[in-house]
Amino acid sequence: MEPSRIIDLFCAASGAREAGICPILPTQSGKAPKASSPLYGMKSVIVGIFPYFCGAEEGEICLYARGRDYHSVITPRLCAAAEALSAAHPGARFIPGCDASALNEVRAAGYTGLGFFGDNGLFFSRRFGSFVFIGTLACDLEFSIPLREAEGCSHCGACRDACPTGVLSGGDKRAECLSAITQKKGELTEAEAALMRACGTLWGCDACQLACPHNRGVEIDPLPEFAENRVTIFPRSLRNASDAEWDAFLEGRAFAWRGREVLQRNLELVCFTKEAENGILTGESEIKGDRK
Ligand code: SF4
Ligand code: SF4
Repeated sequence: MEPSRIIDLFCAASGAREAGICPILPTQSGKAPKASSPLYGMKSVIVGIFPYFCGAEEGEICLYARGRDYHSVITPRLCAAAEALSAAHPGARFIPGCDASALNEVRAAGYTGLGFFGDNGLFFSRRFGSFVFIGTLACDLEFSIPLREAEGCSHCGACRDACPTGVLSGGDKRAECLSAITQKKGELTEAEAALMRACGTLWGCDACQLACPHNRGVEIDPLPEFAENRVTIFPRSLRNASDAEWDAFLEGRAFAWRGREVLQRNLELVCFTKEAENGILTGESEIKGDRK
């Protein structure tokens, strides 16, 4: 089957806004999958792009996590595409993957020619910017199409300058992405808590994406699941909420996997500590200094 026909079928069945084919299998380890891996024998990747951007209104939750959990949205769509492609291509195997795969999805997306790798480590679709989820079907079909160069990042440094932790500058080996800090288990250091308060985040960080010139004027066409029933803050009533109330808040959310304990800690640290209540927040430059 022609690659263009495969892409059309994939988009029709999955609702991906665009798709492409990566003619190799880039893995996280950089090695060929072992015989025990589900990816063993796979030769190429069909990559679907699923935008989530609906606008960047103020909030305490990063943009990707405001709608429904993308795993639960994209996985069934990929399964539908696998079914449609299997019917059209009997004997071929298609393995869905979204975020939890041995496949390097960012690389696979970059090699389709649909976009490029940004200096902030994200894939940028030329149409939708970096506000996209990547869904993949690894398959055992071989395609004689070129591996496309993922050129496009202008290396302007805007993402690095906007980053509140300095992790993109590379100079401070202890610097960590704020998004990872908000997901950490256990106790956070006071510097980490102050950083979260200063950035006003309870989950994730969008600073490098919002600063990137390639994200300006992008097409806005999110999947409906990412546009409806969005949350931008944690209700303060969660502080004293029952398990049932927490469960209701977390149902279908991308941050639910981390569990109530971490999220409640974040709420407490950012919104209810003495520093937060008094508005005594450490300035960004002081925080960077703190972390060196
Ligand atoms: S802000 Fe500049 S350097 Fe960073 S990803 Fe965008 S284009 Fe590349
Ligand atoms: S998500 Fe935030 S902390 Fe992480 S690299 Fe981007 S700007 Fe820096």
